[in-house]
Amino acid sequence: MAKRIAAYVCRGCEIGESLNVEELCELATGDCEADLCRDHECLCGDAGLELIKSDIREGANTLVLAACSPRFKTDEFTFDGCVSERVNLREFVVWSHEPNDEDTQMLAADYLRIGIARAKKAEIPDPFGESIDKKVLVVGGGVTGMAAALEAAGAGYDVVLVEKEPQLGGWAGKFAKRFPLSPPYRELEPVDLSGRIAEVEGNERITVHTGTTIQEIKGQPGQFDVSVKANGSGSAFRVGAIVQATGWKPYDASRLGHLGYGSSPDVITNVEMEELIAAGAITRPSDGKPARRIAFIQCAGSRDENHLPYCSAVCCRVTIKQAMVAREFDSETEAYVLYKDIRAPGQYEEFYQTAQDDPGVFFTKAEVVGVEKAGDYLQVEAENTLLGDRIRIEADLVVLATGMVPAAADGEGVRRLTDAKAIIEKGEAGAQLEAAKKTFEELKHLEGTEILNLDYRQGPDLPVLKYEFPDSHFICFPYETRRTGIYAAGCVRAPNDSLVCMEDGAGVALKAVQSVELASQGTAVHPRWGDMSYPDFFMQRCTQCKRCTEECPFGTLNEDEKGTPLLNTTRCRRCGICLGCCPERIISFKDYSVEIISSMIKSVDIPDEFEEKPRLLGLICENDAYPALDVAGLKRIQHSAFIRFIPVRCLGSINTVWVADALSGGFDGILLVGCKSGDDYQCHFIRGSELMGTRSENIREKLKQLALEEERVRLEQLAISDFEKLPQIINEFAEQIDEIGLNPFKGF
Ligand code: SF4
Ligand code: SF4
Repeated sequence: MAKRIAAYVCRGCEIGESLNVEELCELATGDCEADLCRDHECLCGDAGLELIKSDIREGANTLVLAACSPRFKTDEFTFDGCVSERVNLREFVVWSHEPNDEDTQMLAADYLRIGIARAKKAEIPDPFGESIDKKVLVVGGGVTGMAAALEAAGAGYDVVLVEKEPQLGGWAGKFAKRFPLSPPYRELEPVDLSGRIAEVEGNERITVHTGTTIQEIKGQPGQFDVSVKANGSGSAFRVGAIVQATGWKPYDASRLGHLGYGSSPDVITNVEMEELIAAGAITRPSDGKPARRIAFIQCAGSRDENHLPYCSAVCCRVTIKQAMVAREFDSETEAYVLYKDIRAPGQYEEFYQTAQDDPGVFFTKAEVVGVEKAGDYLQVEAENTLLGDRIRIEADLVVLATGMVPAAADGEGVRRLTDAKAIIEKGEAGAQLEAAKKTFEELKHLEGTEILNLDYRQGPDLPVLKYEFPDSHFICFPYETRRTGIYAAGCVRAPNDSLVCMEDGAGVALKAVQSVELASQGTAVHPRWGDMSYPDFFMQRCTQCKRCTEECPFGTLNEDEKGTPLLNTTRCRRCGICLGCCPERIISFKDYSVEIISSMIKSVDIPDEFEEKPRLLGLICENDAYPALDVAGLKRIQHSAFIRFIPVRCLGSINTVWVADALSGGFDGILLVGCKSGDDYQCHFIRGSELMGTRSENIREKLKQLALEEERVRLEQLAISDFEKLPQIINEFAEQIDEIGLNPFKGF
């Protein structure tokens, strides 16, 4: 259908008093060739909206709305069946620049040109229309998995719960007592999961498969085909979303020889202590005699750069519990707790207090320097105690409070891979290095968890990040992983106690439900919720270079044997990183493409060198930087009137051809502003900012070829809260470009 472009300029929110609106309307219908342009006192009000609707009834199908930021009035300015392009005259122009000033008017005119250029090329996306299964698969039947299953079922969704053990309950089901989960948080509680298990097993929406493992998961959100195996026989089913709640495993105590583990059977871990408690008697493994003096060594391998650098959150409370149980079993027992710090968060201080009040439990800060056999006892030697003394404790039993490791990095393959990587990193020469490289090549696909066995080109399970936890620690979105529609919760996400795990179960169930619902509506999940577009590949020109399959942070693309990318639409987060990396520029979205952004850049009016009005281009990420600049506008913080911002989905979606186009078109400088990269995961698409950093090398190369100064292109990363910093960055950049001088290519 032919485009009929209707442009509107709002006069409200000071726009009418600050700009020559008539001039803007003439520009829209003149040079920009819109079919009509109208101005209105308050475009978002009933009368303004009716004006737009009546034009739509008359045939307008492409709307350019020059008013407030697109982050406001979203519902009001969405019109079914129309392309709707927002031009941010309020926050980006009149609230952040001198009113009735020549440069402010030129800025508004350029934003109108940019908006109309985009409206001319953008099309309405066709939503993904295939059938979507809304069933939720929960992998792991512990406290978290059961909570997730019950919550999803309670919300009206069918659930399949797969547990590899013969019964539900996970670790909690193996413990006889637990620290309190309810007020007054002082006394031990018995563990009885039978009611919870019966609730799960009796729920008509939940199908439970115990003693079952996942053989393979193929497909995409809404269409995951799952094959499972139990007792040697297989079965298959389809689900829409997946929750991984596979919990934790104890840290490998064989690496704690310096604390006596392995040198005496009477040095045990806290998990082994649970086994003794469950058996009903705390005895020495060496001779079966009652253990009456028990030394607990806290942070055994935790908060230690050589082992687990993190705190496992529960070990202190577990030790307090075990000391209390030991005292309950036998009031003659003495417990000695040697700690770096005792961590009993919130009201668990009360629980700690209960143990402190018990004369049979001794707590001291101490650094353990050795555990040795001394006759019939184990001698624990420690220094840096509270009083500064070196102490020796004679104990029947030493319990190491080992931490939690996510039950994600399982398997011999992963272990071999980790070792190989360590050797490669050390760079040791010789046969060992060669063997390590070979192992790495052979096993690099295992850089995951080997639990879900996903049929993904980028690996079979959830990618793990820091400390081997699946990377669900996005600042903005808990439970998210780098696999769309697959969420991590409970101790596989982060070390937690049972209460937090149950909360995780509820939270992750909602994420799974959102995922299947959005897939069924054909839209992307967070953060591009509501986006119906997805990448389209012009395959005739694909060189099978595999950049898109490798750089997609979400494993969206598989590939055929020749290397041609195969799109799994509902895995896609619509970040545009593939568009940014494709050297052939053949990946596009209906409303975001190399061509669309290029035409927006080219639409800007570049004054000639005699006017001495520099022009800067800002490619600004929609996730944090754009809202930060909006907030700066709301706060009336001024920034240079020489910069024109074009929003991008992610810094990683910037194709370097845009930079080249801008420089050869006469822009004097280019500011690329995105979210922070790094472990704190500000980047909403994980690797976008990092990838832009790498691509900046190519940009520098391009600048060199053009004999242009490197400083003409600047990359900045910031958070949404940096709204005061961003105008400063813009102004500094404008000053810097002023010093460097105008682009010599201007006018060519
Ligand atoms: S848009 Fe993003 S998530 Fe989708 S295929 Fe491209 S890189 Fe992957
Ligand atoms: S990056 Fe472009 S050329 Fe390379 S495989 Fe992907 S679509 Fe093909």
